Amino acid sequence: MDVADRLRAVRERIGRACLDAGRDPSQVRLLAVSKGQSAEAVRQAYEAGQRDFGENRVQELVAKAARLTDLDGLRWSMIGHLQTNKAQAVATVADEVQSLDSRHLAAALHRRLAAAGRTLPVLVQVNTSGEASKSGLAPHEVEGFARDLAGWPTLRPVGLMTVAVRSDDADAVAACFRTLAELRGRVAQVTGHRWPELSMGMSGDLEAAVAAGATCVRVGTAVFGSRAPQAEPPRS
Ligand SMILES: *Cc1c(COP(=O)(O)O)cnc(C)c1O
Repeated sequence: MDVADRLRAVRERIGRACLDAGRDPSQVRLLAVSKGQSAEAVRQAYEAGQRDFGENRVQELVAKAARLTDLDGLRWSMIGHLQTNKAQAVATVADEVQSLDSRHLAAALHRRLAAAGRTLPVLVQVNTSGEASKSGLAPHEVEGFARDLAGWPTLRPVGLMTVAVRSDDADAVAACFRTLAELRGRVAQVTGHRWPELSMGMSGDLEAAVAAGATCVRVGTAVFGSRAPQAEPPRS
């Protein structure tokens, strides 16, 4: 199977999951996670109609983006843990950050964005599984953080993101997704504006995420096949 075939299969999975959940497939965006894949693979996916791509490392994102500047309408989302010293590069090249997880990072991004006269859609990453290996705010920290985001007006909060527990226990996975969906309601209440996006679900669990209300699924291996191992896996 090539990238176009795999993309078609993933879109079919999303379509079927939406049908089962009584949801409109146009409400679920596919973010193709291209970390560990070549710029050429991204180009193939683009030619098959894919426009939204996710990367978890700034250096890889910058290098890949530089090789694909000819692709109109291609959008990059940052989905990996971010150090504040990378804020400048992210503020320049990313179209969205889904891994916002600290005030320190929010302040650094805001400073760069303000200087560049840009705004950036952001999703707040939540650690819904409680695993120490995962990035993200603890669920109880999210309301206060969401309220404080108003202090960094170049950041446009549009939703929440999570990586579910990696488990064969379907109930445990679904519980992570439900936690994120519930939190979204609470942050909407305390901030007085909508947080439309719920970014959750990956190659192995996108159906459960769609059932729980995902508006963005982040799919890597099911779109591109297996990827080169990363030397030092960043916390996701
Ligand atoms: C790698 C990654 C994905 C995609 O994972 P697959 O299992 O390859 O679909 C999704 N979200 C984040 C945050 C990731 O780091």
